[in-house]
Amino acid sequence: MESAAIAARNILTGLHEVMASGNHAQAKLNQVVNIIGEALSSEVCSIYLLRDGVLELYATRGLNQDAVHVTRLGFGEGLVGTIAENVETLNLDEAAAHPAFRYMPETGEERFHSFAGVPIVRSERAVGVLAVQHADPRKYAEVEIEALQTTAMVLSELIAYAGLIDEAGTIGSSQIGTVVLTGLPLVSGVAAGTAIFHQPNVRIEHTVAEDTEAERARVYSAFDKMREQIDRMANMAEFGAGGEHEEILATYKMFAYDEGWSRRINEAIDSGLTAEAAIERVQQRTRMRMRQIDDPLLADRMHDLEDLSNRLLRIVSGQMSTAAQLGLKQDSILVARNLGPAELLEYDKRRLRGVILEEGSLTAHVTIVARAMGVPVLGRVAGVRQTILDGDMLLLNADEKTVIVRPAAAVQQAFSSELADRQKKKARYAALRDEPSVTKDGKKVTLMINAGLRDDALAIGLSGAEGIGLFRTEFQFLISATLPQRERQQRFYREVLDAAGDKPVVFRTIDVGGDKALPYLKHVSDEEENPALGWRALRLALDQEGLMKAQARALLEAAAGRNLNVMFPMVSEPWEFDAAKQVFETQLEYLASRKKQLPSRIRYGAMLEVPALAEVLDVLLPKIDFLSIGTNDLTQFLFAADRADPRLAERYDWLSPAILRFIRRVVLACREHKVDLAVCGEMGGRTLEALALMGIGIDRLSITPAAVGAVKAMVRSTNMADVEGFIEELLSNPTANFRQEISNWASKQGVEIG
Ligand code: PEP
Ligand code: MG
Repeated sequence: MESAAIAARNILTGLHEVMASGNHAQAKLNQVVNIIGEALSSEVCSIYLLRDGVLELYATRGLNQDAVHVTRLGFGEGLVGTIAENVETLNLDEAAAHPAFRYMPETGEERFHSFAGVPIVRSERAVGVLAVQHADPRKYAEVEIEALQTTAMVLSELIAYAGLIDEAGTIGSSQIGTVVLTGLPLVSGVAAGTAIFHQPNVRIEHTVAEDTEAERARVYSAFDKMREQIDRMANMAEFGAGGEHEEILATYKMFAYDEGWSRRINEAIDSGLTAEAAIERVQQRTRMRMRQIDDPLLADRMHDLEDLSNRLLRIVSGQMSTAAQLGLKQDSILVARNLGPAELLEYDKRRLRGVILEEGSLTAHVTIVARAMGVPVLGRVAGVRQTILDGDMLLLNADEKTVIVRPAAAVQQAFSSELADRQKKKARYAALRDEPSVTKDGKKVTLMINAGLRDDALAIGLSGAEGIGLFRTEFQFLISATLPQRERQQRFYREVLDAAGDKPVVFRTIDVGGDKALPYLKHVSDEEENPALGWRALRLALDQEGLMKAQARALLEAAAGRNLNVMFPMVSEPWEFDAAKQVFETQLEYLASRKKQLPSRIRYGAMLEVPALAEVLDVLLPKIDFLSIGTNDLTQFLFAADRADPRLAERYDWLSPAILRFIRRVVLACREHKVDLAVCGEMGGRTLEALALMGIGIDRLSITPAAVGAVKAMVRSTNMADVEGFIEELLSNPTANFRQEISNWASKQGVEIG
């Protein structure tokens, strides 16, 4: 066989005739297995189709005809069931050696050794399996597998139109009544709305081309239109120039103009497919490959490609209607396997209340965009398609990691009143925006925000915070497909400073490694057994001198003529601070020697995240301008509890004597050395925790923007002297349930804890 294209073309030509014939469905399938067997010189060719939840042998060439409609396999059963269950291809030179192999005597298949099977896919689920077998033990060539996959695609249309599969049956028994699904909160928040599926299936009417050149022309013109759309989207006024989206859309553009992609579609057209079928074929192949990728960042990029592929398919088929294009008629919660950021941007923000994704990750582009839109997102929700039907009522609570499908009226009512309460609270907090963050007895508690994206800087104004206490510069590195060059970094930092105006920004130098792997720094944490304790943050940055130097220069240049606050993450010993500061000082000298404008003032700080550092504060504090406690890492190290492990999330409490006593020691040391101290981990964004921190002398918090209102309300309703006395007392007699005690005290004192 010369190529997959020729093999597939021969098969498709044959199939075309079969489809055009007036024969009934079974006769058509019988012809199909002969055509495929012939073209691939395969002794056996069989088609299994899904009926009543089982895969039934519908047609075969080479196996006993008596087995037709008799041999049946469940999902996951035998090789055929395995292919369907995993929606993946199997290519085996010795079928019986595969652990899933099941011998079916009625078929007479014992003579055949080699086996290759591909799923017949419809709406991303297997509705059947196409298999070939051979007496010789040989592996099928890649080109033959390609041809089988193309054929399976055409078959899926044929059998659907012939009514051979019950499409409703393939969706599985949708459960009736209320169901609660759980997932991973990607963007926090609460929402109620009607389920709407993002992806209306594009119905591919014809898969086999009449005129290959005409199909090619259709694809070219669709590519043109798609590129126009992407360019237009990049200029959308609403998201303005210089938004995070620019970066994302740049990735999109890269794919939209990708030669490899259009070449693969062209090849599929060469094999005889229509434009629609060719796009779908290439997309299916991408999807199958994606399943094997466990690099989440790469997988995110692949989703961008899939987003574009869907767009192309809709353009070429004229079926332009995504749920976004049809328009949302009411408050809606969007349901999708995954979404591209551009797809999400197309929805009417006034009616889009929430998003549920089967996939999704915290660093995915779509998550970033959703956050910018203020739409809660629950990701990694399993069983979406089996459970949710279009038009179902959904109650999404990303904070509680749940979505309630078809809630009972009483549940819905309770949820509505919770929503109303949240709305009221939000309005109340918004009213506090310009009020000072001062306790009842006149003590100031400075509230800053944590940020990492350019648009986050806008949250300073919206939340009434006093600056950015932690700017996670690594976000920029994480969302970028390649290492951001110095000039790009510099532009970015300057924009952040511009957005912050006269409010201070504390830039934390790159904190990657651990769970924040960079695709272009492949060796980071790949083989580490304990990445959180590994080669990460400042440790990595000091080794990767080029990286740190470029960032130092970019920050110094960006802050020309202004104040610059730099903070180093995960300092474990004082010399690391010295070394990091030296990188900046060397760059500063260089800029000075070139007569460049320098920052008007530079303050250097360290993060206290590694407990060991607390033992050498007498050495460290004289060197630094400020210290910030990162409670996320600090508590994971103090309790030896992985911060990313959900099983441990509830086990250790921030409101414990160990944490509070530890931080209090740091407070006392900083007071003695007159060094500014802040807390910038998640702990400070919770009202009760923030209250306890105030009780041990913390008066500067950097927290998530959404928490500023609630924490400010707490501060304004607290008497500092009282809480200090209370916490001191509690810490000297740590017998009680701390959380409960503090909570009781707060409500007795009329402290607003939200
Ligand atoms: C921390 O560890 O508390 C912190 C603020 O840094 P990050 O969460 O980015 O590790
Ligand atoms: Mg940290």
